[in-house]
Amino acid sequence: MNQDAFLDRPDIGLWAVADGMGGHASGERASKLVVEALAQLPVPELLGRSVRHAECLIAEANRRLIDEANASGDEIIGTTVVVLLAMGGACALLWVGDSRIYRLRDDRLEQLTRDHTEVQQWVSEGKLSAEQAESHPYAGVLSRAVGAEDEIQVDSVLEPLMGGDRYLLCSDGLTKELTLERIEQLLGSGEPPEVVQALVQNACAAGGRDNVTAVVVDFLNR
Ligand code: CA
Repeated sequence: MNQDAFLDRPDIGLWAVADGMGGHASGERASKLVVEALAQLPVPELLGRSVRHAECLIAEANRRLIDEANASGDEIIGTTVVVLLAMGGACALLWVGDSRIYRLRDDRLEQLTRDHTEVQQWVSEGKLSAEQAESHPYAGVLSRAVGAEDEIQVDSVLEPLMGGDRYLLCSDGLTKELTLERIEQLLGSGEPPEVVQALVQNACAAGGRDNVTAVVVDFLNR
């Protein structure tokens, strides 16, 4: 069973990764539903407008998942989602949950999203170190997910694009298995298809306790 889903649409500058949760086939259903919803995003005209449109599509997916859970008696049919939207010289990142977006710029890896988890909250409050958070028994407990609550809050940031930027969208199946240093190393060598393969293979070799999804996007000099 693969509860992850992804979207790869370089034609309109749109990429996404979703990581579903729930009993039976619910997790698969949830991640697929949010990714399919985002695929309806029209060809972007203005970045800000596309961000708001994407937020609406995520909110609609949220509503549908709640309705489906209510109808089927499932406690929750939920999913994370990370979205990268690029246009001209800028990009927008949107996210809910603990899937992540990283950027490799000048050989330095930076995490651009902040997990919606209980432990991340404690790290922000200074109650836990980032290292303690990784091995904490609550590490996988989300504080936000698509399908979890009536009012969904989507976080977003805008980032300027630079030629040579490489972005990584991934599910926690990757980040649970590989250190930041290892991801930086693997991400920095090769073309995107090889890099994706290396990331997934290394995560599986390191334990592979979960589904692993990685999307690598290069922005070239114009
Ligand atoms: Ca996962």
